[in-house]
Amino acid sequence: MAILTINAGSSSVKFTLFPSDADTPRASGIVERIGLEGTRLKARRAGGEAVETPVPGADVDRAVEVILEALGHPQHGVIAGVGEIEAVGHRVVHGGERLTRPVVLDEAAKAYLESIVPLAPLHNPHHLRGIAACERHIPHAVQVAVFDTAFHASLPRHAFLYGIPLRFHAEDGVRRYGFHGISHKYVAGEAARFLGRPPEGLRLVTCHLGNGCSVTAVRDGRSLDTSMGFTPLEGLLMGTRSGDIDPAAVLYLMERHGFSPAAMNDLLNRRSGLLALAGVGSNDVRDILAAARNGSNQAELAVEMFCYRIRKTIGAYAAALGGLDAVVFTAGIGENAPEIRRRALADLGFLGILLNEALNESPAAGPRAVHAASSRVAVLVIPTNEELEIARETRQALAEQRRP
Ligand code: ADP
Repeated sequence: MAILTINAGSSSVKFTLFPSDADTPRASGIVERIGLEGTRLKARRAGGEAVETPVPGADVDRAVEVILEALGHPQHGVIAGVGEIEAVGHRVVHGGERLTRPVVLDEAAKAYLESIVPLAPLHNPHHLRGIAACERHIPHAVQVAVFDTAFHASLPRHAFLYGIPLRFHAEDGVRRYGFHGISHKYVAGEAARFLGRPPEGLRLVTCHLGNGCSVTAVRDGRSLDTSMGFTPLEGLLMGTRSGDIDPAAVLYLMERHGFSPAAMNDLLNRRSGLLALAGVGSNDVRDILAAARNGSNQAELAVEMFCYRIRKTIGAYAAALGGLDAVVFTAGIGENAPEIRRRALADLGFLGILLNEALNESPAAGPRAVHAASSRVAVLVIPTNEELEIARETRQALAEQRRP
């Protein structure tokens, strides 16, 4: 039997098929460019080559159908038929205040997800479409939702509330939710395993640095604070997001330029961050680091701003945790950009963080330590694996459901 993970976004549906009882995927891929020219399926069997198939005009429902056709293909497939799929784990960005652990999707859970669409208007509607498509095409399978917000449900009130009248939390749900929780949880668990220590007593700062960036303080395997807030906009500088900015500056700009809320939202989420600051017409850190090396002062400043925010958040979370055992880097930038790791940790020797430059620069893959032998705090690079975390949590939800 198998577990399928589905991540349905605005223009793509990503999938991975796991055996029900093992962590090594049998196949994975994506239907991309949904709603655009050139919609295609890219699929890969374990150990095989990626195969591309055009699927012109496919919507989310059709995307799920072609994924299932590919998985069950008589020659190239990996399962005899959809009957082998016992559960589908859906990545869902927002679980609101109520869905704080993986849930089997019944009518009530889906109705709640509908009701919180205003909290995640760019994500949850696509997830709901993915869920509906899987219900239609794999009706016998148990559908499970795994939430990006759930890991942060353990934040204490003093960390998740904002300094505005409490009624805006009670009536409008305005609070810090935090995101990237599937990734933070996965790497925190893997870090404990790598260090050979139980999560209990371990104080970690996990840095997920990809297109979106967030830092989480983890104690005893639980999220204690996290840099993203009510939306993913808060906190670090990101590829195209501003991160922290005084809300009064936002209001000032709206008044002065007559920006609508939608225009301001677009400016802060899609036209700010590294893209706006580096001046290289790209938000890819590889391009920006190359420009900085080639003498661009503007790109250099953007990199320094990016690293400085990570650095000061690590310091803040060391205080929140009352000490620090390890800093963990993950995601596209965190895993692959030694210069960013080095600069983010610069001058943190006073916290007991000392990098081993050679280990840090080494292009090794897989979980690894990159700190100096004399470092009191471990510095780890742990490749994230959100699909595996979703599969594991789906497996767990399935087991709980079946328990008498
Ligand atoms: P997402 O958040 O969309 O899952 P990823 O975690 O894949 O994104 O991260 C994407 C980012 O990782 C890219 O924007 C790019 O800047 C960065 N990245 C990938 N490889 C490298 C590298 N070798 N050096 C620096 N940055 C990299």
